[in-house]
Amino acid sequence: MIRLYTLCVCLLLSSRLFAGEADGRLDIYFIDVEGGAATLIVTPAGESILIDSGYPDFGGRDANRILHVVRDVAGLDHIDNAVVSHWHLDHYGNHAALASQIKIDEFWDRGIPDSLQEDKGFDERIANYRAATQNISNTLKAGDFFELDSPNTPLTVKVVTASREVIANEGPKNPYASLHEPREEDKSDNAASVSLLMEFGKFRFLCCGDLTWNIEGKLMTPNNPLGRIELFMVTHHGLPVSNNPALVRAIEPLVAVTCNGPTKGGHEDTIATLRACESLKGNYQLHRNVKLGPEEQTPAEFIANTEETERCKGQWIKASVDRNGDSFTVQIGPEGKKQTYQCRPAQVATSK
Ligand SMILES: [Zn+2]
Repeated sequence: MIRLYTLCVCLLLSSRLFAGEADGRLDIYFIDVEGGAATLIVTPAGESILIDSGYPDFGGRDANRILHVVRDVAGLDHIDNAVVSHWHLDHYGNHAALASQIKIDEFWDRGIPDSLQEDKGFDERIANYRAATQNISNTLKAGDFFELDSPNTPLTVKVVTASREVIANEGPKNPYASLHEPREEDKSDNAASVSLLMEFGKFRFLCCGDLTWNIEGKLMTPNNPLGRIELFMVTHHGLPVSNNPALVRAIEPLVAVTCNGPTKGGHEDTIATLRACESLKGNYQLHRNVKLGPEEQTPAEFIANTEETERCKGQWIKASVDRNGDSFTVQIGPEGKKQTYQCRPAQVATSK
């Protein structure tokens, strides 16, 4: 990721030298980390952005799954940008481990807090992260705006929330604003998540980490500053402390991907909110929610992994956007059938 134009030239050169063969497409991989999050984006110029890195431990399970996708599937030999959405271990569990195995050029996060009340292991974990970054990470703030190298179609990233701050609530009135009923304040780091809006032609992708209810409401009421979203990474693994309908309904998602685990997320309340979206044409889950019956969740052909964690093969979901940002395909695993979705015209242009 390039902070406007300042670092442009050197980073672009390094991307082009080392990236896999560019086909003009924008690829997004939702890597299965069993209820954590790890999302790899590869731009048309071959620049890579890894948002979050799954859980630590488990014999390197999540780190290995990420490295497999980075190297073997996407064909990359380094990661240009590694982003931490927030300071929970299912999101930055492997930044340090990955950095010991593959070159990471730039680290991005919301800023490192002095302490984290909900994590007794924070001091040690953050020391490992600091060491991996060599004490150099870039701080993302709400309103930051980046233009990525993209030869045919402009590709932008806007930070829409970070550290409990949100972008200005400008835009058309949100007809679903009244669905926001404030809840008790969430003092955890979930509420501080970095949320990114990526725009590429008509294709628009929203990824909000584990952002919770009240900040979603703050972002989306009374007006809708985001507009429609073609691909929505369902927030917080599909847990109902997030996915405020004032946000989910307002963005009118065309396709949704929930990064849940067999027993974490993919909650029935969130499923109900998604089902209320008439716009939704594809509703994908990384896992079958083993606690819900088949009728209570998305149809089997939209589920990447059906087994319990012990027997799970860790199948990924990939979205691939055409070079003009007019349409995109979604497939499950390397053998999966590609489903094509036509993007709708953008209602609200991303602006600086
Ligand atoms: Zn999480």
